Amino acid sequence: MKRANLREMIPVKYLYLQTMGCQMNVSDSEKIAALLQRIGYELTDDQRRADLILLNTCSVRARAEEKVYAHLANYVGMKRKKPGLLLGVGGCVAQQEGERLLDRVPHLDLVFGTHNLHRLPQIVLAAEEGRRLAEVDFIDNDTRVNLFPVDDRPGGVTRFVTVMQGCDNYCSYCIVPYVRGREVSRRAGEIVAEIRQMAEHGVREITLLGQNVNSYGAKSPDEPDFAGLLRMVSQIPGIERFRFTTSHPKDFNRALIQCFAELPKLCSHMHLPAQSGSDAVLAGMNRGYTREHYLSMVTELKQARPDIAITGDMIVGFPGETAEDFAQTLSLMDEVGYADLFSFMYSPRPGTLAAGLSEELSYEEKRERLELLQDIQRKGTRRQNEALVGTIDEVLVEGVSKRGDQLYGRTSGNRVVNFAGDPALIGTMVDVCMTKGYQNSLLGTLAVDSEAA
Ligand code: SF4
Repeated sequence: MKRANLREMIPVKYLYLQTMGCQMNVSDSEKIAALLQRIGYELTDDQRRADLILLNTCSVRARAEEKVYAHLANYVGMKRKKPGLLLGVGGCVAQQEGERLLDRVPHLDLVFGTHNLHRLPQIVLAAEEGRRLAEVDFIDNDTRVNLFPVDDRPGGVTRFVTVMQGCDNYCSYCIVPYVRGREVSRRAGEIVAEIRQMAEHGVREITLLGQNVNSYGAKSPDEPDFAGLLRMVSQIPGIERFRFTTSHPKDFNRALIQCFAELPKLCSHMHLPAQSGSDAVLAGMNRGYTREHYLSMVTELKQARPDIAITGDMIVGFPGETAEDFAQTLSLMDEVGYADLFSFMYSPRPGTLAAGLSEELSYEEKRERLELLQDIQRKGTRRQNEALVGTIDEVLVEGVSKRGDQLYGRTSGNRVVNFAGDPALIGTMVDVCMTKGYQNSLLGTLAVDSEAA
C-alpha cells in the first residue's frame, strides 16, 4: 500500500499576520511565519480564511497600547462568526501589557513577548486546545542568544538577518530597552552559516539587523566587532550586496567607515539617525554624541564612499527644544543632504526618562515645526531623485511592481526603481538608465534597451 505523505494528511491552517512598526518587527514576523509553518500554518493575506490572526505590535509611537486595544475590538464579530478562530498579540505592546491584555480582551487567545518567539509553536498548540495564555518572560541574560529563531524558509531575493537584539543606550524618550531588553549579540559563525544557507537558496542581498548594530560583539571578547562581521559577510559567495540598520552615531567609528572604502558589496546606503541637530537637545535625549561628532562621521563617510545615500531619523519638539535648537536641526539637514528622513513629533512614552519632563511646546507648535521639516525634506528627496535622471545604476531586481506591468528593484543607495523587463530577471543585477525621478521612486529603462533604441 502506498504510504501517504504526512504533510498531505495534516489539514492546512491559515495564518494572517499583521506587522506594525519597524524593520525589526518585519524580521520577527518572517520568523513567526517560519516557526508556525512547522506546525502546519500557511500565510494568507485574506483575514476571512484565517484560523489564526496574530498582531505583531510596536510600542515606539504614541498611544500604541490604546491603538492595539482598539484594533483588537474589531475582531469580536469575526470570532463570533468563526468560533475556532484564534487571536494573538506579540511584540513590544505584548511585552509591556502581558496578562493585562488577556484580562481586558476576553476574545483574545494568546500573548507572547519579545523574548518568547522561540516558544510560539507551543503557545499556539496550547491555544488550539483551548488554553488562554500569556508568555512574556524577560530573558535578560546571555542565554537569549541561543534562543534566536531563524527563518530557514527558502526563497526571496532580499532577506533580513538579525545580528543582535536589545539596547543598552536608554535614550531618554525611548521605550525599546524596556521592552526588548539589554543588548545581546549572536555568534558570528551562526550568522555566517545562516547567510550561506540563504545564498544557496538564491538570496542575493541581506540586511543585517539590530537595534544598535554598531555595538555588535561589544560584550563578547572572543567574537569579532561589527566591522569584523561585515568583512566576514562580504566573503560569502552568492551574496551580491549587504546593508545594515540601525546604527547609533555614538558607536559609529573609523573601522566601520573603512569598510565603506574597502568592501564593494557593502551598499552605498547609511541610515544614521541624528534625532536632533542641537547639542542641548541631544544631551536631553541622552544620545551620547554631539552635532560636531555626527557631522564629522558624515564627512568621513562621504570621503570613503562619495556616492553614499544617507538617511536618518529626526524628532521634533523634544521637551525644551527652542526655536534656535530647531533651526540647528534644519541646518544639520542642510549640511548632511539626507536622501530621505523619517521624522516624528515628540510624544512622551510612559516609563521613559523624558516622560517626566515638562513640555513647553503646544501640539500645534510641534506640528508646525514637523510640517516645515518634512516639507524641506520632501523637496530635498525629490531633487536628489530628479538629479539621477540620465545616470545608469545597478539595480537588484526584487519582483513585479504592484501594478503588475513593470519590474521593481533597488539601487545600492536603497532607491526604488521601476522599469519594464522580463520577470526572468528577478534575482539578478541589471543596469538601469534612470528616466524620471519621483518623490519616492525612480522610473528607468534597462540600459541594454536604451542603448538599442
Ligand atoms: S539607541 Fe536609543 S532610540 Fe535606539 S533603540 Fe536604543 S534607546 Fe531606543
